[in-house]
Amino acid sequence: MKTLFITLLMVFVTTFAQSGVKPIRILVVTGGHAYKTEQFNQMLARLGPDITYEIAGFPKAFDMFLPENRDKYDVLVFYHMWQKITDAQEEVFAECISQGKPVVALHHSICAFDDWPEYWNIIGGKYCHKPTNIKGKEYQPCSYIHDVHFNVKVTEIEHPVTKGVSDFEIFDETYKGYYVEEGVTPLLTTEDPSSNSIIGWTKKYNKARIVVLQSGHDVPTFENPHFRKLLKQAVIFASTGK
Ligand SMILES: [Zn+2]
Repeated sequence: MKTLFITLLMVFVTTFAQSGVKPIRILVVTGGHAYKTEQFNQMLARLGPDITYEIAGFPKAFDMFLPENRDKYDVLVFYHMWQKITDAQEEVFAECISQGKPVVALHHSICAFDDWPEYWNIIGGKYCHKPTNIKGKEYQPCSYIHDVHFNVKVTEIEHPVTKGVSDFEIFDETYKGYYVEEGVTPLLTTEDPSSNSIIGWTKKYNKARIVVLQSGHDVPTFENPHFRKLLKQAVIFASTGK
């Protein structure tokens, strides 16, 4: 028994020493939109030994915002398009992030919560499914186009999320007409006419760092090395600020 314990301890110490840091534990929140689970998980698994992941689907995932569960993960990664939420769930959700739980929001997660304006404030964006008034301005239903080859321009080359990433080409779904909050820091843009110009940004929501990446619909993006690098650096930045 003692030998086993020492062996386990040594394995732990070795693993810990190799990477030098405690892994960042991401909680990927899904639900409300289908996706290629296997390939998506492969992308998560390839983020490297310093990032571990767990998946939580709505509505069960609402429990993970409760104070007693917040120590179980370091960064929320949104890959959901959930709509239904109660007043009590809204309060706990917003408070969790406001108190500092960082968020990396991907792709269709900007289409979630059509009737909850505070969510739009959290991520600093909203794809509208219906005419929506946002801060006094009327937004019409947005549009999307699948399978577009387009160029992504890195606007902030010094930023921790984009460092080492040059402008690149991607094959993905584009969105057009969505709201982007004034004052966000744009990280990625495109000139493709089927898309909004700003397709990646970062902001703060009270104590929490937020990073939003519009791309991420399907396998070509999951396997795109530039996107993987952006996702990894977004998780590290959201968690550590570096
Ligand atoms: Zn999509």
